[in-house]
Amino acid sequence: MRTSFAMAREARAARTGAGRRRFGDFFILRWYIVAVRVTFLGTGTSHGVPMIGCECAVCRSTDPRDKRMRPSIYVEMDDGLKVLVDTTPDLRMQALTRGIRQVDAIVFTHAHADHVMGLDEVRRFNMISGQPMPMYADASTLRDIKITFRYIFESDAPKGGGKPDIRLWEIGGRFSLGRQEVVPVPIQHGTRQILGLRLGKFAYLTDCNGIPDASRSLLQDLDCLVLDALRHKPHPTHFTLDEAVAEARRIGAKRTWFTHIAHDLGHAATCAHLPPGMALAYDGQTIDIGGAAGT
Ligand SMILES: [Zn+2]
Ligand SMILES: [Zn+2]
Ligand SMILES: [Zn+2]
Repeated sequence: MRTSFAMAREARAARTGAGRRRFGDFFILRWYIVAVRVTFLGTGTSHGVPMIGCECAVCRSTDPRDKRMRPSIYVEMDDGLKVLVDTTPDLRMQALTRGIRQVDAIVFTHAHADHVMGLDEVRRFNMISGQPMPMYADASTLRDIKITFRYIFESDAPKGGGKPDIRLWEIGGRFSLGRQEVVPVPIQHGTRQILGLRLGKFAYLTDCNGIPDASRSLLQDLDCLVLDALRHKPHPTHFTLDEAVAEARRIGAKRTWFTHIAHDLGHAATCAHLPPGMALAYDGQTIDIGGAAGT
């Protein structure tokens, strides 16, 4: 899968004249930590905030940090690669709001509607790049995507305004995007396991209410953790805020940001009561995780 991705990147680099560093295309330098910038495209739960038809204080709030699109992040790496995590129903507005025109690959955490329903927007990135879009997901997510978006995969389906041109790659373990190693981190989301992701000193664990013991060893020595924290009231598939704080303490990252937030949690009032080093994330927030060369 790395070869295909590298080919797509080289084709883009040939057009742009960028991306001459090629050593990561051939092998993974495990001791090299790539610098990444993470932008939160959405930090809301599946309904978004404000929620349709709701008059609560958070849904009526004028604080921009209380406006939450569906959950997604955009990761920019220091070798120029730009990776989208999930394609939410808000993808079009997220890309327009943040000025995103380059996506070199998409990684899916799972196939719930709030994480995949913007897949058709990939047509624009195909048109801009002139390339198919590599997409990475585990086996069950790939299966669900093929069912949900049948028209993309069946040649007899009508094309309408065109179909996304995508290449699916099954995540079966660690893989690389350019010279960044991506570590899948299995997390519990109700009765199913989905994928969290670790890139260097950064981990993104959306949609979870449990961390399997086997995954804890993958979450050591983090500078930055992003973790699901839905609301105060218990939920069968998401951490409450208290559960997320306890889990964040146990994982022990230097900084933790919470995401997948419902309208129950106002940004300012909630953050005022969080422990040091923890906060609610908000749409448009960026985090820089520094790179470093090891020996
Ligand atoms: Zn509300
Ligand atoms: Zn979910
Ligand atoms: Zn979700």
